Amino acid sequence: MTEFSLIERYCQGIGASHESTILGVGDDAALLQVPPGMELVVSVDTMVEGVHFFPEVSPANLAHKLTAVNLSDMAAMGAEPRWATLALSLPHQDNDWLAEFSQSLDQISTEFGLQLVGGDTTQGPLILTMQVMGLVEQGSALRRNGARPGDDIYVSGAIGDAALALASLQGKASLDEAAFKKVIKRLETPVPQLKLGRALRGVGTSCIDISDGLIAELEHIAQNSQVAMKIDIDQVPVSDSYRQYVSAGGALDLALTGGDDYQLLFTAPTDRQQQIKDLSEALGIKISKIGQVLDRMNGNIESDYPLQLHFHDKPFKLQDNSGYQHFQSGRTDPE
Ligand code: ADP
Ligand code: MG
Repeated sequence: MTEFSLIERYCQGIGASHESTILGVGDDAALLQVPPGMELVVSVDTMVEGVHFFPEVSPANLAHKLTAVNLSDMAAMGAEPRWATLALSLPHQDNDWLAEFSQSLDQISTEFGLQLVGGDTTQGPLILTMQVMGLVEQGSALRRNGARPGDDIYVSGAIGDAALALASLQGKASLDEAAFKKVIKRLETPVPQLKLGRALRGVGTSCIDISDGLIAELEHIAQNSQVAMKIDIDQVPVSDSYRQYVSAGGALDLALTGGDDYQLLFTAPTDRQQQIKDLSEALGIKISKIGQVLDRMNGNIESDYPLQLHFHDKPFKLQDNSGYQHFQSGRTDPE
């Protein structure tokens, strides 16, 4: 099969279709229309075999995760996903692999209103890059820099399962079969919190998705917003599987620093509490209040470190406060 027919067969007609797509796959570039009053929201993520996923992961799950992590960035901005481009570097042409990848890509893209409008296909090590583009009403995107002293801090869903699955695969945690089945699903097929992100426009003062671990994302909001934070670690929501792991002697650290959760972490003024309760019920998404934003000056912060961690009102210390970093010598993560 030529490169052209490969693209035709596996990359054309993927996902939703939008009237605002003037030209999709097939020309030198796509043509997209941003409606008046909207802003274009753009993000890109790369997954490298051996770095972001094990060689054993199925092509269907790879397509799901690549799309989900990109959609999660749209969720964190309060944006509605529209378009994607896909750069594939493949070791060889494997039609079974491509068919499974393409079908799964179509499924998740259709589910979340994403249309594949272009990309690039080359031969090389297995590397998958997706760029997503979405729309948000002018001036209403959720950013990392809007947290204000006095705001409450919230997290959606439960965290730690993906990190627990990874630890289990690496032989660092032992789980029974039922628990493993649940947590591996969280690692391989995370669900982007798009409805919640949209609902938080005009409600949340800052928002971020949890990809590098809860603690690392709290640090990002604190630094970007120039605030300090008090976190009640005992309020951090974990799943039944994770609780089982803790009962068997496991630490909370994995849930706090592990990452790959793709839940939303956000702040909101205290007078929004009822509204947040209501939207949690309306969406059927658990939302937990885990702390409060403090002023940097009056936060009794002993060092430059912006987080005060408490466990039932006593200071809590992490064994390993690193989060996931690609460039290990200092915080050189080029975000
Ligand atoms: P060019 O040589 O102009 O870059 P390509 O042969 O790379 O063109 O691509 C031809 C068309 O197929 C373009 O519209 C491009 O966007 C699309 N395309 C190529 N690879 C992919 C892919 N992996 N996913 C989606 N569209 C793709
Ligand atoms: Mg090209």
